[in-house]
Amino acid sequence: MDLRDYGWNEELSAQFEAYAQRGLVPARVVKQSRDLSTLVTPLGELPGKVSGKFRHETAEQADFPVVGDWVTIEPAGDNLALIHAVLPRRSAFTRKAAGETVEAQVAAANVDTVFLVSGLDGDFNLRRIERYLTTAWTSAAEPIIVLNKADLCPDLQNVLTAVEGVAPGVPVVAVSALSEDGLKDLEPFIVPRKTVALLGSSGVGKSTLINRLLGEERLPTAPMSDAAEGRGRHTTTARELVLLPGGALLIDTPGMRELQLWADEEGLDRTFDDIEKLGARCRFPDCRHDREPGCAVRAAVTAGALDPRRLESYVKLRRELSFMELKKDVKKRRQQEKAAGRRFASMVKEIKKHKPRYQ
Ligand code: GDP
Ligand code: ZN
Repeated sequence: MDLRDYGWNEELSAQFEAYAQRGLVPARVVKQSRDLSTLVTPLGELPGKVSGKFRHETAEQADFPVVGDWVTIEPAGDNLALIHAVLPRRSAFTRKAAGETVEAQVAAANVDTVFLVSGLDGDFNLRRIERYLTTAWTSAAEPIIVLNKADLCPDLQNVLTAVEGVAPGVPVVAVSALSEDGLKDLEPFIVPRKTVALLGSSGVGKSTLINRLLGEERLPTAPMSDAAEGRGRHTTTARELVLLPGGALLIDTPGMRELQLWADEEGLDRTFDDIEKLGARCRFPDCRHDREPGCAVRAAVTAGALDPRRLESYVKLRRELSFMELKKDVKKRRQQEKAAGRRFASMVKEIKKHKPRYQ
């Protein structure tokens, strides 16, 4: 197996050097289920597990291997590979794990290009596109906006203009996965040895699109009625990272398809670059563009240069983001308290051990 077909390159080679000296071998995770990874390695495809040391020393769930990760392995006999380390991720799609506090869960790593798929039917929503863009910029993958079901859209030109308005500088491609119209326009973004992934709500046509890219009906697609009711299906492919016929790589894991917003300040600023630029001219540097005097952002809305719905969407996402940050802080504090508790317990143990000396 030639790992270059899976995206191995000079940069990874350089990162791997230190491990190569220890006799380890590189591999890419093509599937992940609970404790077991499926890996492509120079020795062929192997099941893999993280080493005991890795498990012991890795506190954050987000640091465990996921689909798309490059890892260093030691062939451990019995047709099993031991994973020793995860190489630094070029990009990562992260989502919130369920629960009261916010824990990062990585859905997929090392995605080069992400197709943000919307359907040009009842589902269409500019605000949702802004959300997905924020998640995409945060991940560090390059976003492409894909407007599917173009066959159902009577005024495509207007829609394209509106989408380009909320996504300055981002390529927008209208396609019909059903009639295959426009699929050619996606080709420049489906490059050999580069990894693409799709993100979008249920029913927008991701499975249909993936089947087109694969050139075969590998994924079951939803009957119209199910899609209309937003009923989810659990589609599972044989592999979650697959080689496409043209040599590009596609990641399609159930966890990747619909992420809850996971974003950082930078991702938000990039999505709302226009508002950021305007905001620099507000009288107060910490202007919330609400009621403050001298607000350049609200002035732009009054002048008709900025859509008030876009401003509203920005304010809403910003609020969600600070709420998330707050919860992250709570989690960090709890972890620190736990660590302090552990240190205290071991101190007590230590004292008890030595007690006889002082008696
Ligand atoms: P997913 O949930 O995003 O994977 O969506 P599916 O691929 O299952 O598609 C949902 C529904 O939309 C199915 O009934 C598809 O046949 C339909 N669909 C997908 N692409 C198109 C398209 O380009 N045009 C139209 N009219 N319907 C489509
Ligand atoms: Zn302002």
